[in-house]
Amino acid sequence: MDFHLDDVASQVVSVARRLGREVLAPAAAGYDQSGAFARPELQRVFDAGLLDPEIPEALGGAGLARWVDALVTEELAWGCAGITLAKTANNLGLTPILVAGTREQQQRLLTGFTQKLQFAAFCLTEAGSGSDAVALATRAERVAGGYRLNGVKRFITNGGVADLYSVFATTDPALGAKGVLALAVPATTPGVTAGKVEHKLGIRASNTTEVVFEDAFVPEDLRLGAEGDGFKVALRTLDLSRANIAAHAVGIGRRATDEAVGYAKERRQFGRPIIEHEMVAAMLADSAMEMEAAHLLTVQAAWRADQGLEFSAQASMAKAFASDSAMRAADRAVQVFGGYGYMAEYPVEKLFRDAKIYQIFEGTNQIQRMVVARWLAKEDRQ
Ligand SMILES: Cc1cc2nc3c(=O)[nH]c(=O)nc-3n(C[C@H](O)[C@H](O)[C@H](O)COP(=O)(O)OP(=O)(O)OC[C@H]3O[C@@H](n4cnc5c(N)ncnc54)[C@H](O)[C@@H]3O)c2cc1C
Repeated sequence: MDFHLDDVASQVVSVARRLGREVLAPAAAGYDQSGAFARPELQRVFDAGLLDPEIPEALGGAGLARWVDALVTEELAWGCAGITLAKTANNLGLTPILVAGTREQQQRLLTGFTQKLQFAAFCLTEAGSGSDAVALATRAERVAGGYRLNGVKRFITNGGVADLYSVFATTDPALGAKGVLALAVPATTPGVTAGKVEHKLGIRASNTTEVVFEDAFVPEDLRLGAEGDGFKVALRTLDLSRANIAAHAVGIGRRATDEAVGYAKERRQFGRPIIEHEMVAAMLADSAMEMEAAHLLTVQAAWRADQGLEFSAQASMAKAFASDSAMRAADRAVQVFGGYGYMAEYPVEKLFRDAKIYQIFEGTNQIQRMVVARWLAKEDRQ
């Protein structure tokens, strides 16, 4: 592994660091309270070229390596994971086009994202189909020139603000995974609406809604890949974006640790700063160790994807370990702050609420462990 940042990448990461600390962090508490969408801050991220940096240079993007983008995401999530989630949801929404789109589709659908602030979303989950994604029921009925789409997607990040949805639907539920297709659906398509808005424990700056399809006509030239390939496209997309989700958790866990260290140096009890009490110091050391390991696993998973090596199990390890570690680091940070940690006036209670989702979405940590266990059972693993 070579994690050396060249001058350009190093500059990109320091721009992200500045944005995370100077733009997102100061705005975070306000958006957490209001639940509003942080468009002005995301415009700043876009203007810095960091909203969709993985779009290839040939399509007008920055073509940033995944492992460098993981560092960018980590820095932004240090400031506010809820705001940063719009970036990662864009990545999820656009990756099916990169994975399965033709050159013409990529040019038609992705170029706009490099030119002005736009959002995308990935629509897989439904009321009856979460971890068991093959059980999806949204129907794509073949009609002249394309498909008629009917169904309701649930818990969609960037729902309601997205300009483009990547949608997974079935032509025939009896076919299981082989009946699934992927469609790129512009939000302006008649019959496409954002449904119920979710009110959440954390990452409240992120928009989560239902997305409803009622007799929405989608032309055949917006199908991504062949008719039966949709499920493979969905899984490949989730694999590729998993390290970016892990990077969010690393950002949250590192922020929690930084806040706890800062507080433990200032707060005095029994005549000395609490960092000098060994049990407090040990909590901080545990968080620092775990977050460092989570960071390295995350960068490694993204780097393996960049190198074309097998990375799916490593991405699952990174996602599960980083989110479990972030949850523990946020818990310890609240503990180090004592009663003040429980109060909304201090930043760590928000980090505690934000951290939880990373154990749940993009495949729960139980599902990640299943992926790792399946990989362990393989004879030819690399
Ligand atoms: C805030 C938020 C944003 C989201 N954004 C998106 C999005 O943008 N796009 C999208 O498509 N989806 C999105 N999701 C959906 C998310 O990916 C699912 O919620 C998640 O995959 C789990 O599905 P579920 O909620 O139906 O839980 P279930 O699948 O019902 O799981 C419930 C529990 O059972 C466990 N479980 C299930 N099956 C097994 C098994 N075989 N072995 C062991 N344990 C098992 C799970 O680990 C979990 O603990 C989002 C969810 C949230 C909360």
